Amino acid sequence: MIDRETLSRHNAEDNRLINSAESNNRITSTMTQQPILIIGAGMAGLKAAHDLQQAGVPVIILEASGRIGGRIHTDRQFAPIPIERGAELVHTNQADTWPLIRATHLSIHLLKTTWLKQPNGSWADVKDLATDVMPSFDKAPDPLENLADYLYRMGMERHRWPYALRLLEIDSEPADRWSALEIFDIAGKTREDNEEYGDYDYRVIGGYDRLCQALAESLDIRLNSVVEAIDWQPGAVEVRCSNGLTYSGNRVIVTVPLGVLQRRSIHFVPELSPVRWAAIDALGICDIVKLFFYFDEPVLPAGVDSLIDEAGLPLFWWNGSASNEGFNGEVVVGWAAGAPARELLKMGENAALERGLSSLKKALLRNDLSPLAACWSEWNSDPFTRGAYTFTPPGAIGAREQLAQPQDNTLFFAGEATDDGYGFVHGAYHSGERVAAEVIHSVNIVPA
Ligand SMILES: Cc1cc2nc3c(=O)[nH]c(=O)nc-3n(C[C@H](O)[C@H](O)[C@H](O)COP(=O)(O)OP(=O)(O)OC[C@H]3O[C@@H](n4cnc5c(N)ncnc54)[C@H](O)[C@@H]3O)c2cc1C
Repeated sequence: MIDRETLSRHNAEDNRLINSAESNNRITSTMTQQPILIIGAGMAGLKAAHDLQQAGVPVIILEASGRIGGRIHTDRQFAPIPIERGAELVHTNQADTWPLIRATHLSIHLLKTTWLKQPNGSWADVKDLATDVMPSFDKAPDPLENLADYLYRMGMERHRWPYALRLLEIDSEPADRWSALEIFDIAGKTREDNEEYGDYDYRVIGGYDRLCQALAESLDIRLNSVVEAIDWQPGAVEVRCSNGLTYSGNRVIVTVPLGVLQRRSIHFVPELSPVRWAAIDALGICDIVKLFFYFDEPVLPAGVDSLIDEAGLPLFWWNGSASNEGFNGEVVVGWAAGAPARELLKMGENAALERGLSSLKKALLRNDLSPLAACWSEWNSDPFTRGAYTFTPPGAIGAREQLAQPQDNTLFFAGEATDDGYGFVHGAYHSGERVAAEVIHSVNIVPA
């Protein structure tokens, strides 16, 4: 546990920073004289820090890697245009990130057309096949039932599934790993909102990381600070990093990915509650591999944003360079999730790229394709991520809410895993907004 003397020694520097910060509408509670420590400079941590700083609450972000953004990682070395090694698309026109996208004046490209290869070799527009997320059944699934079993129980065998369900698997994990109840609820909401397929995926032109940079402006971010331990008691925390530095504050916001928590990479003293650990362990993490091929000419059919060839590995491809003015080549991105991703991971990068290129050639009937450059991205081996993004397996309903609960007005949690935003960037962003509001509320209610 932390002793008070150590706390005040470590706080000396931080207090100087805080005392110099002033604003007319700042929160005046003396509890704010110590900074709020935020672990992780991904979308969730940056949004939380940004909102807190705007409210006059001093923050320090401790980030393990040498850059901000986390699973938003724009690469400007691979090709003349930026590619996205992590998040690439803005999902839905309802995403919470739209105001930020507009404020940063980023242009966007709507992925309008997805073609699906038919058994006879012709192409069909997926829009015509994916009209509803899931058929509606009167009987709700059991909490422990997986989606594939539930559909079977409802008399719907796999060959009768709507293609939208197949798209869910292509995007994340197979139906037998998903909670049927989660998908049943999502489908219900989608129906209520009258949401239809289309107007769904948008690419940010010029780099997704621009959003992170906009939020990070004037924040105190300590890069290369790998947090190893969080000692805490109500109203006091001490965070220890592997570089030997320690930071003190009165609250900490943990935004590290679920994979980092599941590996117990951060030591909490005292331990987190068994209920919270159960929530952490109940949620699942998708495996994703992305392959990137840079060609000196356009190779996807004109006007087609993405295509699916179920025979390929990977089977989903999109144009990763559309709407980049003045770029005459094309970056084609291959997407593998779930079992196909695990297959590629086993092969290693070179073999995966060879296999991917051969699949693309077959899909397009273009044996002559020869990329100028190729690379993959995978997030399983990254010690600060350990997997791509979360999904809800059977039995994990309510785990996100559980994980998001603050403890003793001292430990706060954010990050995509704590939000019902389907593991996406807008979920992380929303969780940052939520946790900042919780901290501000706690600062106001806790007496000095
Ligand atoms: C391949 C891939 C493709 C994706 N595609 C999309 C997409 O197209 N659209 C979409 O909306 N979403 C997509 N996502 C999901 C999206 O990237 C995430 O939901 C979002 O970026 C998560 O933000 P976060 O702040 O919760 O976590 P992160 O961005 O992971 O931030 C957490 C931060 O914590 C840091 N950290 C970890 N351990 C420590 C430690 N011990 N000490 C200090 N810091 C630590 C990490 O370095 C990281 O910077 C994709 C993800 C992947 C991996």
